[in-house]
Amino acid sequence: MYTYFLHAINKTPFETLPMAQNLPILIAGGGIGGLAAAYVLASDGHPVTVLEQSGAFGEIGAGIQLGPNIFRMFDYLGLTDAIRHVAYFPPGMVMHDVRTGEQVVRVPLGDAARAAYGYPYGVIYRADLHQVFLAACKVLPNVTLRTDARVESFDPSADHVRVHLADGEALEGIALIGADGLWSHVREAVVGDGKPRVSGHIAYRAVLRRGDVPARLWSDDVRLWGGEKTHLVTYPLRRGELFNLVAVFHSNKYDEGWNAFGDIAELNQRFADACPQVKELLGKIETWKMWVLCDREPVKNWSAGRVTLLGDAAHPMLQYLAQGAGQAIEDAVVLREALRFTEGDVAQAFQKYQQARYLRTGRVQLTARFYGDIYHAAGVQRELRNQMFQNGTESAGFAGLKWMYDGIDPKNLFR
Ligand SMILES: Cc1cc2nc3c(=O)[nH]c(=O)nc-3n(C[C@H](O)[C@H](O)[C@H](O)COP(=O)(O)OP(=O)(O)OC[C@H]3O[C@@H](n4cnc5c(N)ncnc54)[C@H](O)[C@@H]3O)c2cc1C
Repeated sequence: MYTYFLHAINKTPFETLPMAQNLPILIAGGGIGGLAAAYVLASDGHPVTVLEQSGAFGEIGAGIQLGPNIFRMFDYLGLTDAIRHVAYFPPGMVMHDVRTGEQVVRVPLGDAARAAYGYPYGVIYRADLHQVFLAACKVLPNVTLRTDARVESFDPSADHVRVHLADGEALEGIALIGADGLWSHVREAVVGDGKPRVSGHIAYRAVLRRGDVPARLWSDDVRLWGGEKTHLVTYPLRRGELFNLVAVFHSNKYDEGWNAFGDIAELNQRFADACPQVKELLGKIETWKMWVLCDREPVKNWSAGRVTLLGDAAHPMLQYLAQGAGQAIEDAVVLREALRFTEGDVAQAFQKYQQARYLRTGRVQLTARFYGDIYHAAGVQRELRNQMFQNGTESAGFAGLKWMYDGIDPKNLFR
């Protein structure tokens, strides 16, 4: 696997960069966002230390969709081959009515996505995506990966940041990036806007092996069955060897963390009116894991001096546009470009980075809420949605989301 990354490392030798001082950039959190940032910054020569609170680097078992804008980033970072090796490329995305099973619309992906955006639309097992970044980091001698390292607090000063870990250890860095997710500690200190907004939606997730899915229930497409206050998404993962299911419904539960067990009785009750195919799919799962879905209002003050935020810590969003991890990867690229532009002036770079990101990420945050309403529509809303999608204007290659899937052009951000 490592061989994929050797050619990807930036041509600039890291010893020669002006930022290559002794103090590392500290990153709180070794999720997809934290590791993406570590790889992207270290490949430019910055010494980086990732501080992960868990005992091991890893990701929960579930699928993730990757829009063309993310493949554009992989291409820019030289990671496309590594991702291709483990991803799956669905030929289309289909929406069905959850009650009747009727097809509302099918959007072709594959060549159609490539033709529209220049890059493919793929899906990937979260652990595989995380592993690509982890392996890429391990190849770089200037990345230090630390586990059991929970960031509790930090003291910023004019020329460095002192970070305090839960076990009492203190570390110094030239900067701190809070990539510590939805319940970010670093955000509490920088933005101070309290707990995330509970959306009232929860998601149950499960992954099956291909052999456990009868042929009549299998589809190569990404499928979404939408209905009143519920929907189910399914798609293959890992070259088609696995099958991902995410069932979402409205509920008043609130649990921090992403690993609680789901209540099958509640799930069955929410999908009581679903068509037989959906019920049969749900019945294949013995154990569900649960996510309480939260987001936040967009803000534009997530950088302060030598401290900034990235990924869900900066702009947590509902999953309805399947962009959270992708936006974290875009963040990492923009951060690197900002540091290049300011020639290592960290505080100035963090302001430039925030300025370049907050409107785009804010738009994704707000549009994702709207898409949640579209998927869960009932009554006239549902009829309107079906009519809009079926008359072609909204479905033609996600016309309404072109701004998002076109992505960013890293080379022209800070001219
Ligand atoms: C149901 C669902 C479906 C989704 N589908 C998609 C999709 O299809 N496509 C997509 O792009 N995105 C999707 N997302 C969003 C995506 O999962 C997140 O946006 C992404 O995981 C954010 O990554 P992150 O690294 O910013 O945060 P996280 O993944 O939350 O990582 C944070 C890391 O920081 C660590 N940490 C936390 N606090 C501390 C601390 N104090 N000190 C040290 N370490 C700490 C945590 O242990 C964790 O490892 C989905 C989300 C959900 C809930």
